[in-house]
Amino acid sequence: MPILDSSAFAANSDLPEFLRCDICIIGTGPAGMTIARELSGGSLRVTVLESGGMQRQEATDALSEIENIGWPRVVDQWLVRNRILGGSSSTWTGRCAPFDEIDLERRDWVPYSGWPFELSDLIPYLDRSANYLGLAFGSGFNDDRIWALSGHRKPKVRPDPAKLLPMFWQYSRDPIHGDSVRFARQVDTELGPNITIVTNATALLVNATRSGTAVESVEFAAVDGRRWVLPARTVVLCGGGIENARLLLCSDNVIKDGLGNGKDIVGRFLMDHPRGTVATFPTAEAKAVISQFHIFRSRTVGANIFHHGMRLSPEIQHSEQLLNSAIWVREHRVWTRQRKSPEDFLNELTQFLRGDGNFRQDLRATLADAGLRVHDLKENIISRRGLAGKLRGLTLDAMCEQLPNPDSRLTLTDRRDHLGMRIPRIDWRVSADEARSLQRITEFTVEYLSTLGIECPVAEWVRDGAMFPDTIRDAAHPTGTTRMADDPTRGVVDIHCQVHGIEGLFIGGSSVFPTSGHANPTQMIVALALRLADTLKERVAAVASPDLSRL
Ligand SMILES: Cc1cc2nc3c(=O)[nH]c(=O)nc-3n(C[C@H](O)[C@H](O)[C@H](O)COP(=O)(O)OP(=O)(O)OC[C@H]3O[C@@H](n4cnc5c(N)ncnc54)[C@H](O)[C@@H]3O)c2cc1C
Repeated sequence: MPILDSSAFAANSDLPEFLRCDICIIGTGPAGMTIARELSGGSLRVTVLESGGMQRQEATDALSEIENIGWPRVVDQWLVRNRILGGSSSTWTGRCAPFDEIDLERRDWVPYSGWPFELSDLIPYLDRSANYLGLAFGSGFNDDRIWALSGHRKPKVRPDPAKLLPMFWQYSRDPIHGDSVRFARQVDTELGPNITIVTNATALLVNATRSGTAVESVEFAAVDGRRWVLPARTVVLCGGGIENARLLLCSDNVIKDGLGNGKDIVGRFLMDHPRGTVATFPTAEAKAVISQFHIFRSRTVGANIFHHGMRLSPEIQHSEQLLNSAIWVREHRVWTRQRKSPEDFLNELTQFLRGDGNFRQDLRATLADAGLRVHDLKENIISRRGLAGKLRGLTLDAMCEQLPNPDSRLTLTDRRDHLGMRIPRIDWRVSADEARSLQRITEFTVEYLSTLGIECPVAEWVRDGAMFPDTIRDAAHPTGTTRMADDPTRGVVDIHCQVHGIEGLFIGGSSVFPTSGHANPTQMIVALALRLADTLKERVAAVASPDLSRL
């Protein structure tokens, strides 16, 4: 797999012949890299354009500038999206979960809700996503099914299931490096010679044919501004939730308001996840409280950690017209060395004792860091008894889905970045329904905790039924700006993630989600990318290899 830096291309030169491709993918985050990996080793030639380089660079970061005119957003864009090989997987936390069934349903109390397929249609792709994300299971782990999978006993005292259901998030784990999977690492091992990645190559414009019904090329630039045109009859935008919409809007040379924007939907319905602390346990009690948390305690299965929380039941969402939400206990700890969690250490120890994995390598690793490991074990034992000196606080944190709102949107300013691309203007809206959903899930949880004799004072805004404070900002999950719908008047892409009315233009990533659910988006992004890769293999291979019997 060749990997080239566009800065090294000769000035004013034609593109090297081997960049000619059947498919051009834009972006190497989880969406783009998954598709590239799936197409690797096949007969289709794929060129992947990545705006970032192998390392973070100031000039490239500057391309992510936004102008914000809505609810306050995180200002430093690096904290919410990484313009670098591997995309935002470079700094993500690795918390994964599939959406709930209700998230894909059409709900009367959630305008514009409803996906064009059901969650069950995605299960095979969620299962395949496990391999890409370093998960023990791709589906069936985020509710009570975990007990059978893990061999752990179900807690006896549980909240009222008509209100709260168990929820598990599974943490991604790179089996070699021990942290979350970073998609840039897959470049070396997983991509074959039919895939070429070009770094420092920012796509500026997707050119449509004169009729505007198909794509024909992508214009891209190096960091120094030199430009090239890459012919491609199939283009897959995987630039993330903000950049996918931006690129469509900037591609306005053939169609006035941008590609796929005939119905003025591109950039609308911008969602993210309001997420924050909703209640705080008294500090003096935190250490004692934690020992009672069978219900919220993380479990490990093999090498993966499963964080236990709660989510709103579908019944209560219906009866109280709430948005889907989840809640969990967050331990605020100060680790002397941030390398590993106690669960990591126990897993390694178990594996080592079981004789799983590479004995010599494990032994060497264990001995090399013996001091830290003893420290970790001590921390683990102590913290489980509720005596840990390192526990600084304990909160209930929650996260909710947003109302799809056409006025919550991304447009373009007249200002341009240093490559000449118009800078996005973001008017992100939040709603009282989101605050009410967070309040209700907090109240149900606190009510349940009080039956266990645990007091947990809620945040002022929760107590007063007010809007959440503007310290709750976007959570690095931009969603919905090129939403999927069967009906071209209601969405930008069709059920196959192809832009309505434009042959060969596809989109991967959370920008195609019609609703945002409460779950972190990446597992769904990867599942949809796998589904899209299957579509591309079928459709593009058919075009690239004409049926000779018909000639
Ligand atoms: C700090 C942090 C923590 C997170 N934690 C979690 C978590 O625990 N769980 C979870 O599910 N999600 C988490 N996320 C979000 C997660 O990283 C994203 O959902 C995921 O990376 C999105 O994948 P993507 O491929 O769609 O986009 P991205 O990862 O954003 O990748 C897009 C790629 O496209 C490139 N690009 C953009 N525009 C262009 C262009 N014009 N031309 C060429 N290339 C372009 C970018 O450089 C980038 O490499 C976190 C994100 C951050 C920043």
